[in-house]
Amino acid sequence: MPCTQPPSAPQHLISNVNETSVNLEWSAPAFSGGRQDLTYNVVCKRCGPDGQRCEPCGVGVHYTPQQLSLRTTRVSINELQAHTNYTFQVWAINGVSPQSPGPDQAASVTVTTNQAAPSPVTSIQAKDITRHGVSLAWQQPERPNGVILEYEVKYYEKDQNERSYRIMKTASRSADIKGLSPLTSYVFHVRARTAAGYGDFSAPFEFMTNSVPSPIIGDGANSTVLLVSVIGSVVLLLIFIAVFVIGRRRSKYSKAKQDSDEEKHLHPGVRIYVDPFTYEDPNQAVREFAKEIDASCIKIEKVIGIGEFGEVCSGRLKMPGKREICVAIKTLKAGYTEKQRRDFLSEASIMGQFDHPNIIRLEGVVTKCKPVMIITEYMENGSLDAFLRKNDGRFTVIQLVGILRGIASGMKYLSDMSYVHRDLAARNILVNSNLVCKVSDFGMSRVLEEDPDAAYTTRGGKIPIRWTAPEAIAYRKFTSASDVWSYGIVMWEVMSYGERPYWDMSNQDVIKAIEEGYRLPPPMDCPVSLHQLMLDCWQKERAERPKFSQIVNMLDKLIRNPNTLKRTGAEIPRPNTTLLEPSSPEFSSPLGNVSDWLTAINMERYRDNFTAAGYTTPEAVVHMTQEDMTRIGIASAAHQDKILSSAQGMLSQMQQIQDRMVPV
Ligand code: AMP
Repeated sequence: MPCTQPPSAPQHLISNVNETSVNLEWSAPAFSGGRQDLTYNVVCKRCGPDGQRCEPCGVGVHYTPQQLSLRTTRVSINELQAHTNYTFQVWAINGVSPQSPGPDQAASVTVTTNQAAPSPVTSIQAKDITRHGVSLAWQQPERPNGVILEYEVKYYEKDQNERSYRIMKTASRSADIKGLSPLTSYVFHVRARTAAGYGDFSAPFEFMTNSVPSPIIGDGANSTVLLVSVIGSVVLLLIFIAVFVIGRRRSKYSKAKQDSDEEKHLHPGVRIYVDPFTYEDPNQAVREFAKEIDASCIKIEKVIGIGEFGEVCSGRLKMPGKREICVAIKTLKAGYTEKQRRDFLSEASIMGQFDHPNIIRLEGVVTKCKPVMIITEYMENGSLDAFLRKNDGRFTVIQLVGILRGIASGMKYLSDMSYVHRDLAARNILVNSNLVCKVSDFGMSRVLEEDPDAAYTTRGGKIPIRWTAPEAIAYRKFTSASDVWSYGIVMWEVMSYGERPYWDMSNQDVIKAIEEGYRLPPPMDCPVSLHQLMLDCWQKERAERPKFSQIVNMLDKLIRNPNTLKRTGAEIPRPNTTLLEPSSPEFSSPLGNVSDWLTAINMERYRDNFTAAGYTTPEAVVHMTQEDMTRIGIASAAHQDKILSSAQGMLSQMQQIQDRMVPV
């Protein structure tokens, strides 16, 4: 018998990244080495930001079903670090591999994990309990998956409905909760937030407030504590009796108190955005929604952009008791009018009402000295359109969908708060160093006044035509549904790496083409499923467009099943001049060859007639006449009309855009 040999490398290794988990799948090697004892080993390496300088992943990474001697052709690798480059090698091994190990027995793949929310906070302790309060402390989550920006403590009376809770936020790992009722059991949960969002809440932590004014130290066992405890128990008993006797009155009081709390703290999900211009004194809105920062806490470093009201700079903010952070500083240029000051600060009053990882965060304002400033978190990669153009072709589809998911999530938050953005476009999205995208530009009157893409409409007022839904252009019907239209355009910008929507067509031509039912085609290599979502966002009837919550769900589904992103328009032959395609239902699949077109207009019965007569491309079809139709055997006048009018539509569209192609 011939000697057996080591197997060749596994084939077709593919990876799916889901937050901090990676699934690998492969197929068997082409050459088994003439043996039956084939297994696989997985090697995990964590690499530097440039993909170089790799080191073994070590313990802490979990493999399902296992890392070594795998008999299956798939493995799931969990508990990786967020935002980290990993290289995985899958080795095909058999009984003689140790005799002749070589790199040709392994296939490898490099991935970048996504952002993940922090793991739950696990250990909470009550440091100090009084009649009306408690001091809590806890440990950082085991897997923070990024810089913890904030903790949220949720608490409620144990006997009350859990929905009547209160929330307290803190940047440190402790919180002094005040205003509790004596002798009452409370339930606490804590969760952490990073740029990726909130992690899960901790398991419930319960305790009862004291009956006596002096604090009881929980971990001591000395006589003082014992004495206080005994006195406490007696007083506790007395108070129990008192509580029982005046029970009805007390419970009514606490209900009233709870009701007033409810207005302020409860049901955060239905909080509605307040338009600062509804305040008689807009400065009041600034005071309410934006924190005043002392100018001495800010160090301006360099100018990074020009805003409508003045320079935008980067710099540092060091608040007392907090760590120094990088910030963006928008300044109001000297010589402003009162209206300009009000409009400038309105952005802060709006931004200050939002708290979401995909919405730019307001740190505060400087209004007590000059220049007046708005301080926000710093976004290292600047605006999304420029960032994409600079990185043309560098991201995986999953990364691009991750970007879209972030924007959709921010927009869902805004629409839940009944805030309509009106100027959603890639230029108004900022990107940080972790590729997290955040919606920005909340100025009110400035919306569209200074936007170079905004054009005056016949009814006055400026509108960024290419990004705006037809009903908003026609009669200023701005709603979350018109924001969804703009979101579809942002999707197109992202998938085309910052291409200008509708290239250099004039605004008038864009309005006309949209009115006639034409829509942007899928960008190069864009998955069909994403283009379909864009077309859904560009439904003429605004009620038929998806809601942002549905868009987020849809993108999550695509991220979970990356196979659904594999099919791109490239697999369907398409005429390269057809850059816009009609949005009517019969055209909703990418317009491909003549056969697809006939199917789309329900005339597929004539497919053979067209083929036999040599009309195989849309370019040939659009020039056909009625006589041509009769000649190739289409006798019905109604069918001739239908085919000709559809072909005319294609022709006028081709003519409209033929000269306007920009080289990609
Ligand atoms: P805006 O007035 O908001 O359009 O800002 C003008 C320019 O400043 C933007 O296009 C960005 O390039 C830059 N910029 C604004 N805010 C930030 C930020 N938070 N982080 C980084 N760059 C920013």
